[in-house]
Amino acid sequence: PLSLSDTVEAHRICVCVRKRPLNNKEVTKNDIDVVSIPGNGTLLLHEPKQKVDLTKYLDNQVFHFDYSFDESSTNDLVYRFTAKPLVQTIFDGGMATCFAYGQTGSGKTHTMGGDFSGKSQNSAKGIYAMAAQDVFALLKQRRYSSLDLCPYVTFFEIYNSKVFDLLNKKAKLRVLEDEKQQVQVVGLQEMYVSCAEDVIKMIEMGSACRTSGQTSANANSSRSHAILQVILRRRNQVHGKFSLVDLAGNERGIDVRSSDRQTLVETAEINRSLLALKECIRSLGMDSHHIPFRMSKLTQVLRDSFIGENSRTCMIAMVSPGMSSCDSTVNTLRYADRYS
Ligand code: ADP
Ligand code: MG
Repeated sequence: PLSLSDTVEAHRICVCVRKRPLNNKEVTKNDIDVVSIPGNGTLLLHEPKQKVDLTKYLDNQVFHFDYSFDESSTNDLVYRFTAKPLVQTIFDGGMATCFAYGQTGSGKTHTMGGDFSGKSQNSAKGIYAMAAQDVFALLKQRRYSSLDLCPYVTFFEIYNSKVFDLLNKKAKLRVLEDEKQQVQVVGLQEMYVSCAEDVIKMIEMGSACRTSGQTSANANSSRSHAILQVILRRRNQVHGKFSLVDLAGNERGIDVRSSDRQTLVETAEINRSLLALKECIRSLGMDSHHIPFRMSKLTQVLRDSFIGENSRTCMIAMVSPGMSSCDSTVNTLRYADRYS
């Protein structure tokens, strides 16, 4: 249906939306599907057949994206139109970044393929693994084999403005910026990888580490940003870097009165970093010289992604289809809408 020639290749920023199917829990609770994907990059929030007053949401019911994926879309299809065209960028010496954005439960980790909880390691193949496979496919091509590129992987988490190494038992790391504004995560494990399976092993290890060691493990992992980077080095210098980011949930409706201090601090921090991210991506789109990357730890460690002639970014906004998620869905759509 869509031709690959009009994919993100021609653009520096691509913004897409993906709707997941209603899940069993939602069906059991008689939740109603209020999201349609008519195609052509549009998404429609609509009145359900049952009488529910949606007017408070419907001042702007059509949203526009570069691509919109409905509930029948596979990870493979989503990958082909989002992250896949960015793989070339890192071979050309640029920075590529792909973000998964949305409320908890909307499908970010499912799309990225970081569903390795440590107990059940039956993750559907996601963008992480497919990107790794394409990186190794290109490395084998003759035009790149003469460049002597060496691939490495890092995997870390940002929680409450602190950086933790997922490939090193969640060691807490410091972020330093030198006088040339180069940002460095001190002591971050950078693992050499010799094939896509090596990368997948790192993803399994890091994902299991992400959800372990806490009492409310899942709640905590949904409150952090996870960043997987595939780095190509040439004579020890960074040639290109692909950052794949599973962002913290942007949920609405956190009750200020009944939430504990910890939750409120976390929420404020997540909102701050997501706002900073939007500002940085926006200034990339405008070829602005001032990029406000110091606004948050997330944008600070991703500074490289927002500078340089050859930086490409893709944002995949995930939405839940249910009426019960409407507040968060509208929030996500407004954040990601091409023309907002
Ligand atoms: P998030 O990371 O945004 O919190 P998850 O990726 O963990 O959300 O998804 C929540 C649940 O919904 C998981 O059980 C996941 O397998 C399922 N899910 C998410 N997206 C889809 C999809 N497109 N198709 C089928 N199941 C999905
Ligand atoms: Mg998740």
